[in-house]
Amino acid sequence: MSAPATDLAASVRSGTQRARDVVEERIADIEARDPELHAFLLVLGDDARGAADAVDAAVAAGDDPGPLAGVPVVLKDNLCVRGTPTTCGSRILDGWRPPYTATVVDRIKRAGGVVLGKTNLDEFAMGSSTENSAFGPTRNPHDPSRVPGGSSGGSAAAVAAGFGLLGLGSDTGGSIRQPAALCGVVGVKPTYGVVSRYGLVAFASSLDQIGPFATTVEDAARLLDVIAGPDPFDSTCIPDAPPTLEPTLRDGVAGLRIGIVEELTDVDGVQPEVRGAVEAAAAALEAAGATVERVSVPSTVYGLSAYYLIAPAEASSNLARYDGVRYGLRVDAEDVATMNAATRAAGFGTEVKRRIMLGTYALSAGYYDAYYGQAQRIRTLIIRDLARVYERCDALLSPTSPTVAFEVGARTADPLTMYLSDVCTIPSNLAGHAAMSVPWGTGAANLPVGVQVLAPALGEPVMFRVAQVLEEAAP
Ligand code: GLN
Repeated sequence: MSAPATDLAASVRSGTQRARDVVEERIADIEARDPELHAFLLVLGDDARGAADAVDAAVAAGDDPGPLAGVPVVLKDNLCVRGTPTTCGSRILDGWRPPYTATVVDRIKRAGGVVLGKTNLDEFAMGSSTENSAFGPTRNPHDPSRVPGGSSGGSAAAVAAGFGLLGLGSDTGGSIRQPAALCGVVGVKPTYGVVSRYGLVAFASSLDQIGPFATTVEDAARLLDVIAGPDPFDSTCIPDAPPTLEPTLRDGVAGLRIGIVEELTDVDGVQPEVRGAVEAAAAALEAAGATVERVSVPSTVYGLSAYYLIAPAEASSNLARYDGVRYGLRVDAEDVATMNAATRAAGFGTEVKRRIMLGTYALSAGYYDAYYGQAQRIRTLIIRDLARVYERCDALLSPTSPTVAFEVGARTADPLTMYLSDVCTIPSNLAGHAAMSVPWGTGAANLPVGVQVLAPALGEPVMFRVAQVLEEAAP
């Protein structure tokens, strides 16, 4: 299977293709088709042209622009680019232009990548459908009556539609993997600390990770290799550089031990075609020389409950800074406290307000132990359960999302049904582990299905080998 981004970088580096031509083509395509999909909040046409020209000039001068030479990349709009509006899908950041650039964006640019624009997301990355964006939903390129998933739905849709060859999202409870599954692309949540969060607007700091979207596993590996590694601006980064993924990508799975996580595969609400995809994927790994067994990780059934205490708790603290003074929107009032309240009332949407209230409640004196404390204990249990399973297994499999893409509006009335979209992806965030979604055929309504590959902390090299075999075997 060819890898569009890797192949494009090779032809730009060798001078057989011009980065500028690629950008012009992508921008024309976005202008023609994005009005229907609304993957972008901002298209950076002139910046992209300038970056492409610089790449072409480097090639002409005999220099190597880098491993992403001329590759169009899209950024979820919670990633900061100095001087460029960054909205997080929220009214509260209206007019705010960050004074600095995210480390991941700097690394992409230094590798020759061309940033095409900022993509739509659920407000502050809270959601699973991109319908919580203050700027209207994104639609799934496979069926515009359906959601692309979320919260990184704009980046997933943009890569699935071919607007950008690569994309970045953030994943706090599944926001890269779930939209990747629903849009039929590859999405990776790296191990916590592998990718710098500097310049990512925080949602829940102990869970957030930035990661790639791509149409192939190889392209995702290329992008992760570019963005990964320690950063003096993020003290939670793992201090040692992780091994590069591309050299071992095709080492195969012979001798690897794979577990199918029972609790995440047999959970209520998993569509039969989705469960079937996990079983077929496991059979393909077995055929390629791996051993497969069913494994139990009992505490994962409490993952969703723990997540919806820990993530809102952290969010309620992180979002306290939007006070009408330092960022974006201000609603004037007679005194400061009234101004703060009026700004927050006008600037935040319903889901963000719900999370802030949930989180504030969970952290309040008297309830702290019963809610936040218990959730942290579950988090520890999940880490222990997974550690036990990883003594026997090199990687695990499960569905990414219980269902294929749902209709726009289908889950907006009841937040709990929306939250259930992430039941399979949340445990990896709570544990800080690596996980990714790989497309595996289609399910109900002929829509894409994703299989999730889970690996322990720093298990990316094995995880990508498994993903590569799955991609080659996928229907
Ligand atoms: N859908 C989950 C939530 O709403 C996860 C979001 C994310 O990973 N950013 O919190």
